[in-house]
Amino acid sequence: MKVYLDNAATTAMDKQVIAAMFEVMDKHFGNPSSIHSYGREVRTLIENARKSIANLLHVSPAEIFFTSGATEANNTAISCSVRDLGVKHIITSPIEHHAVLHTAEELAKLGLAQLHLVRVNEQGVVDLNHLEALLQACSKANDGKTLVSLMHANNELGTLLPIEKVADLCMQEGALFHSDTVQTMAHYPIDLSRIPVHFVTCSAHKFHGPKGIGFLYIRAGVKIKPFVYGGAQERNMRGGTENVYGIVGIAKAFELANQDMEQEAAHISGLRSYMRERLIEQIPGVLFNGDSEHGLYTVLNVSFPPSPISEMLLFRLDIEGIACSGGSACSSGSDVGSHVLRAIGADPKRASVRFSFSKYNTKAEVDVCMEKLTEMFAVPAN
Ligand code: PLP
Repeated sequence: MKVYLDNAATTAMDKQVIAAMFEVMDKHFGNPSSIHSYGREVRTLIENARKSIANLLHVSPAEIFFTSGATEANNTAISCSVRDLGVKHIITSPIEHHAVLHTAEELAKLGLAQLHLVRVNEQGVVDLNHLEALLQACSKANDGKTLVSLMHANNELGTLLPIEKVADLCMQEGALFHSDTVQTMAHYPIDLSRIPVHFVTCSAHKFHGPKGIGFLYIRAGVKIKPFVYGGAQERNMRGGTENVYGIVGIAKAFELANQDMEQEAAHISGLRSYMRERLIEQIPGVLFNGDSEHGLYTVLNVSFPPSPISEMLLFRLDIEGIACSGGSACSSGSDVGSHVLRAIGADPKRASVRFSFSKYNTKAEVDVCMEKLTEMFAVPAN
């Protein structure tokens, strides 16, 4: 039996999403920019997809811009804020995804903005007092605007950001706020009309949609220029013939996720709690990285006790047919380790494994995984 517990990396596509995309591949091949009927049909599909996503987020369709995924969306929000909105200070955290961190670091290297890292505690929780102090210091410098970029949920630890509080702090200090919402979109009900955030990002393959499609939400009134130049697609904001099948797929996946959200969240949280309890019972010395009680319900980051199999753990699990991902707090050889685990001061002697769940996982799969883990960590009898 093969068990897939790496859903924070990517998810299996929902058959209904595949069917919706296949229908378009089969019947609609027009270029959405063409003015004839072939093009108009496809344009309608794109605009319906945009409307459906916008309605679920309580925003205007004009605020949704399709991109090739969240990496491009994060790059666009941060780079264009510096280039077009007078941003001279970027406040972010050391545990952001590289799509955010590397973009901010590159802009700082080019001398286009100053980078400030907000402190996070050993669970990856952002220190809001430090954030406020950084925001005030940037305002005081009085040499340009500030952009805060903080993810809604950490993809390795599952730690959640109090997004409304951060948005309020940014508003108080007149800063722009971008949040990478990749791990929470389609997993939590998100009403953007109630959160004064300027940019959020989304990627379809994290909720049973296709890869290579995502979107950037840009609050009305925030005027940036394109990140990708070319044709007039996406209302002149992103050149390139639209990924029509992907756009149909992301909208279908988003609709399905929102439709069954409560039920699926209850199922996934149940699996996560079950695995957490069994780990505590069966593996002495097990610990959890991040806030394992109140974090993202899809992610359980487990810190295993030091053992001779630590370095081989992911490989051994893979051989047993269990797919999950992991990182370590140390860098060795080609393994650069996890910048997130290093930033929260995780013990480099312990192997950390991220198990992440989806609606397709079952209790029987958790049992199989636990059986293998228990065997691997069994203390040999003297
Ligand atoms: N941000 C977070 C938090 C992620 O987990 C990911 C996916 O790995 C990304 C950004 C990048 O998304 P994409 O694969 O759509 O470029």
